[in-house]
Amino acid sequence: MMTSLIIKNGYVYDPINGISGEKMDIYVKNGKIVEEFSEKDADIIIDASNMIVMPGGVDIHSHIAGPKVNAGRLLRPEDHRKDPVPRGVTPVSGVGYSIPSTFIEGYRYAIMGWTTVMEPATPPLKTRHTHEELNDIPIIDKGCFPLMDSNWVVLEYIANREFEKLKIFVAWLLSVVKGFAVKIVNPGGMESWGWGQNVKSLDDPVPYFEVTPREIVRGLARVNEELRLPHTIHLHTNNLGIPGNYETTIETMEAVKDITPAEGRKRVIHITHVQFSAYAGDSWRNFASGAADIADYVNKNEHVSIDIGQVIFTDTTTMTADGPFEYTLHKLTRFKWINSDVELETGAGIVPYIYRPKIAVNAVQWCIGLELALLIKDPWRVFLTTDHPNGGPFVYYPQIISWLMSRKAREEVLERAHSAAKKRTTLPDIDREYTFEEIAIFTRAGQARVLGLEKKGHLGIGADADIAIYDIDPKKIDPSKDYKAVIKAFSAAKYTIKDGEIVVKDGKVVKDIRGKTIWVDVQIPEDVLQQIYEEVKEKFMFYYTVNLNNYPIQPTYLHKEEKITLPLY
Ligand SMILES: [Zn+2]
Repeated sequence: MMTSLIIKNGYVYDPINGISGEKMDIYVKNGKIVEEFSEKDADIIIDASNMIVMPGGVDIHSHIAGPKVNAGRLLRPEDHRKDPVPRGVTPVSGVGYSIPSTFIEGYRYAIMGWTTVMEPATPPLKTRHTHEELNDIPIIDKGCFPLMDSNWVVLEYIANREFEKLKIFVAWLLSVVKGFAVKIVNPGGMESWGWGQNVKSLDDPVPYFEVTPREIVRGLARVNEELRLPHTIHLHTNNLGIPGNYETTIETMEAVKDITPAEGRKRVIHITHVQFSAYAGDSWRNFASGAADIADYVNKNEHVSIDIGQVIFTDTTTMTADGPFEYTLHKLTRFKWINSDVELETGAGIVPYIYRPKIAVNAVQWCIGLELALLIKDPWRVFLTTDHPNGGPFVYYPQIISWLMSRKAREEVLERAHSAAKKRTTLPDIDREYTFEEIAIFTRAGQARVLGLEKKGHLGIGADADIAIYDIDPKKIDPSKDYKAVIKAFSAAKYTIKDGEIVVKDGKVVKDIRGKTIWVDVQIPEDVLQQIYEEVKEKFMFYYTVNLNNYPIQPTYLHKEEKITLPLY
């Protein structure tokens, strides 16, 4: 039985529908936002007087599922030991901190009022595992982004300039592994890493294939837009984590400027966790922020969106498909390290890391994420992430929100951080403070729009009834001064409503429901598929350890799905 409910008298922030803190009522039936109906017909009436009502939070980039995340869990027993979550606190027990168990991931997102989360890096061959974990994560809706930049078939089609075949292959791959978007990590870097090398610039060719990162990014961006996929390409830059890399980031954005976007949008690329790709200086000694230059580029060019990848001063775990970067980090820290290679496709590395306020590099990194958020003027193109768990666990989102809403909150951290934070960044000079409306764009509306999720991130008629209610009065509280009240309110939602059901009340999970896995199914006519099928089959026969017939993931594998169907042409 689906519940019908009315949320009365809340201050509603729904930027997609132009609503900014107006007092109004929201009506929910059968899991959707609906037109007004009589109070007599409501099963539940929630009094949201003096509270904020927003769409459920959306996270465009958070490592929550798959082989790399699970290897991270195995690597770090000490991480789990400091944050056990007994049964009773949540419906199912588990562990938290930087790499929580699947159940705790879902509960903790829901407790904060987040209802949709994207796992941003899955090796296609191992996506069966990713779906097993996504199935396990309660409450939230989710999706995953298959890694494509070091895939042999992709590299070969790009080398041969066979873009029609590349398009069919990308569509096929996305559909057979039930993925949502095209992920690119250090383009070409993982294939190079297989040879003990890396690519060092956009024009540094990948061994054997002789294609450059520039060609990979342009080729995949072009077919992504021709396919009209809901999201643009989602890219982690070359040279990530290396001083001076802000220039590579700007060059990467510039490299796709002339690509024609899909109808209805201006963007052709999303660059993720840009904090890690916004470094000036040419060594760790003169390491400085390059955020202002990147923000300036984004302000002048509409084809780019980004998320920040904010750093938190804490002990966390880094994990990425950028294997050579993790090797560099391992050499720097001497911390334990996992490296993995996924035949013909990609790989990954994992290393624990501790961000310390008194370390110059870490202090500058902390500033960079905030500089990006505060210097980029268009709130619809810059979003909240920590690249969980790389910059820090997602449970710190409320703190980040407070830093953006309060200059005073930022200054408190700057005071105790290494002096490099003041000298080598622009953060101390920035006055801007986010409004609640901008926070709603930064954490849900903008993210949903850039992901192309039409029923998420807003509270218009027909939208999914994913709603967060926060116990904070925007008419009484001045977030600039009372930033601790902001942290408190966003840390534990008064109510989280998922698909029209109350799942969290007073910061506690009260109902354990199953979320959906959202994926894109491109309809490829049989005769069109034949254009690539024999070639792909040959690759599987000669090189893969699996048979092509065992590669596609059956639809029944997903416990609860939402399929976005697109025609190929
Ligand atoms: Zn990431």
